[in-house]
Amino acid sequence: MATKTDVLIIGGGSIGLNAAYYLLKAGRHVTIVESKKVAAGSSSGNAGHIVPSHIVPLAAPGIIGTALKWLLKPETSPFGLRVSVDPAYLSWLLQFALACSEANVQRGIPPLKALGLLSAQNFSKLMAEERFDCFYREEGMIFLYQTASALAGGQHEAEILHKHGLLAEVLSAEAVRAAEPAARPEILGGVRFPGDASINPGHFLSLLAQRVRARGATIYEDTPVMRLESSGNKIVRVTTASEVFEPEVVVLAAGAWSPVVARGLGFSLPIQPARGYSLTMRAPKLMPRNSLLLGERRVAVTPMGDLLRFTGRLELSALDTTVSAKRIAGIERAVREYLVIDEKLDVIEKWAGLRPTTPDGLPVIGFSPRHQNLLLATGHAMLGLSLGPGTGQVVAELTTGRQPSIDLTPLRIERFN
Ligand SMILES: Cc1cc2nc3c(=O)[nH]c(=O)nc-3n(C[C@H](O)[C@H](O)[C@H](O)COP(=O)(O)OP(=O)(O)OC[C@H]3O[C@@H](n4cnc5c(N)ncnc54)[C@H](O)[C@@H]3O)c2cc1C
Repeated sequence: MATKTDVLIIGGGSIGLNAAYYLLKAGRHVTIVESKKVAAGSSSGNAGHIVPSHIVPLAAPGIIGTALKWLLKPETSPFGLRVSVDPAYLSWLLQFALACSEANVQRGIPPLKALGLLSAQNFSKLMAEERFDCFYREEGMIFLYQTASALAGGQHEAEILHKHGLLAEVLSAEAVRAAEPAARPEILGGVRFPGDASINPGHFLSLLAQRVRARGATIYEDTPVMRLESSGNKIVRVTTASEVFEPEVVVLAAGAWSPVVARGLGFSLPIQPARGYSLTMRAPKLMPRNSLLLGERRVAVTPMGDLLRFTGRLELSALDTTVSAKRIAGIERAVREYLVIDEKLDVIEKWAGLRPTTPDGLPVIGFSPRHQNLLLATGHAMLGLSLGPGTGQVVAELTTGRQPSIDLTPLRIERFN
């Protein structure tokens, strides 16, 4: 017999769990169907940076030239791409190239800023209300630079933030060393983003999963959605190997796997997986004090209580989360260029995850034009942790017929038509 539910969420990562949390608060009955374990996709091993300062989309002028330069030095490149003649991939690359424009940046900043600020506020409220113990720190983030040209890029980003009313403080070499004693003497300067925060994402999401269960959600793990059946312009049935659901609303929050699910309904989502890696270790003796981003190498460093995590690489890849020992070693080498840390690190986890990446660098949030009860909440790329609680809130608002707290027009899927 089919199970009825108000809202069925496909995917138990950052977006699915946050959506469940805010839907339950709005009084909806929620079921999550997750093909593996909650937060097993791309949400647990990420850098844990909550970055309302991140308002410039990935698809921006100059990024293609920078990426090509990086590719000429594969040993240190923070970027990689697969060679494939898959038409969806080639079409995505073309759309990305076309989106790398000032117009895309100007179009992308308002929604990224609005969703980033809403999310940051929601993180604060959620932590105060739920008292989760997951190393949440509202202490900002510092970008470190070794070269004058990269520092100039950081200063330019700070100016963009000022223009949009956000805080960013350019730091001299001395100010960097005062703020971050682990910084090597070669660091030329930095930029501090005081409005940013950090968290242990795996701890956060497992606590969030416990909380949504306690509030009445049912979570099916190891249960991939196999089939969605529609009738007219509505999804009427969602089938897994063991269950059949008849939901009022379906939320597609399957991250990098969202296009696979959408294909079953006969439409394509322009989302490609961008793989990245992390290594997590027990706190070294020389522990960095701050959440950091190492500018030229694009490596993130996040202290998480008694753990420290390094994160890096963006590889346009297949749906493959194999960990590359070579890339992990490259990330560790990059950290040593910027920070003084212990010679031997006590690494406890090596991880790979997939960022669900759209060609214009913005997420997709809104009802599908083809299926009136299918709500798309995906494509958050490098910001799916940071934008989780804001996305959760607007998903709940859309589902309950309320006016969304922010303008979601620029995030609708129709922009790709
Ligand atoms: C190296 C790295 C560092 C990052 N650092 C940060 C950071 O510091 N800050 C930040 O904000 N973001 C960061 N990100 C990005 C962030 O991790 C992602 O944007 C985020 O995890 C996406 O969340 P999601 O819920 O959309 O997808 P996921 O977390 O991937 O969740 C989707 C879930 O759907 C499930 N699923 C797939 N198919 C099906 C199916 N058929 N049926 C049921 N379930 C299915 C998957 O198993 C998965 O659990 C980073 C990413 C990487 C790789």
